[in-house]
Amino acid sequence: MTDFKRIEDAGDLTGKVALTRVDFNVPMADGKITDDTRLVAAVETVNALRGAGAKVALLSHFGRPKGTRDPSMSLKPVAQAFAKVMGHPVSFCEDCKGEDAKAAITALEETGIILLENTRYYAGEEKNDPQLAADIAELGDVFVSDAFSAAHRAHVSTVGLADHLPAYAGKSMERELSALNAALGKPQRPVMAVVGGAKVSSKIDLLKNLVSKVDYLVIGGGMANTFLAARGEDVGKSLCEHDLKDTANAIEVNAEKSGCEIVLPVDLVVAKEFAANAPHRTIGLDEVEADEMILDAGPATVTRLESIMDSASTLIWNGPLGAFEMEPFDAATVAAAKAAGARAKSGELIAVAGGGDTVAALNHAGAAEDFTFISTAGGAFLEWMEGKDLPGVEALKK
Ligand code: AMP
Repeated sequence: MTDFKRIEDAGDLTGKVALTRVDFNVPMADGKITDDTRLVAAVETVNALRGAGAKVALLSHFGRPKGTRDPSMSLKPVAQAFAKVMGHPVSFCEDCKGEDAKAAITALEETGIILLENTRYYAGEEKNDPQLAADIAELGDVFVSDAFSAAHRAHVSTVGLADHLPAYAGKSMERELSALNAALGKPQRPVMAVVGGAKVSSKIDLLKNLVSKVDYLVIGGGMANTFLAARGEDVGKSLCEHDLKDTANAIEVNAEKSGCEIVLPVDLVVAKEFAANAPHRTIGLDEVEADEMILDAGPATVTRLESIMDSASTLIWNGPLGAFEMEPFDAATVAAAKAAGARAKSGELIAVAGGGDTVAALNHAGAAEDFTFISTAGGAFLEWMEGKDLPGVEALKK
């Protein structure tokens, strides 16, 4: 996974234009950007390219205009916001191809920065249309891909441009790929995976891939209920996919064949209501009443996870261990995240996490900064955990 070219491999870029795919699909409310994390993430790449002498022409999607010029999905306000983050002017062009874009790039000063309009204003973007790829590629000399979060999509701006221009990984992409490689590519063993969340059905491929790669697979959250039920436990009125009993059993069989230990909760926190601070009790596996639901793992489970963490060298985490948005059902997620964070901070554990609610859960636990790496990519991170080749990463290997 690390056999791709980096910006340094491009050498001197003086007088060249680096067409750079970033993820500026930022959250916006009333025309204002509410979180500039993705803008900040692009700074290092843009500065590295300018340092090599290049003009930087930024490409991104924004929202889902589906091939129409929907003004509510224009990147124009993002150009101003990025200029603030850069502390340097950022031009904007209302097209990402054609004569206007060419002229705007030519007009830039040496090492100038320009943001081009939403690539998804063209329907060809999401179809990886070869003509659109050729048209956009005309604007640049090299293609720099820095949006791992979009790398699971075979689009013009993630894949097609690499057919026309020499392709390099940007700094964020490089960091992401190195961290993911350290966690599942060529990891230091033992490797422990924690997979939680609501449903097994959304993570079947992921579980199947992990059992063949990791030494311990901890299953938590609503997903654990499905595995407990498949093992014959009574889970009361818990969230549970009883129809996936055979799937759960097959995953257990494959785990055993691969020498992967599946770790399920050994104690439970149950309540009769799905609500914050609902009256609750901590019980053993065989004590769930018919009108109770499992909303978190108990303290003995956390102790077990901590002891596995003590022996593990690498941890990969996706999904919460319980209904972490509601106190006190966040307890197991918070305690386990803190334990992992502390071990990562002291250098005992390589701890990588990502995907949807995981970032929110680790932030909630105050453990996010202590993890070795946290991916903010949702779908791309999950597809990578499923063991799939990501087209936007494969394109960089050409
Ligand atoms: P996912 O999007 O699949 O990662 O699932 C995250 C969601 O699973 C969060 O909103 C949690 O509240 C929810 N969740 C975790 N454990 C449980 C549980 N035992 N019962 C119901 N929901 C849960």
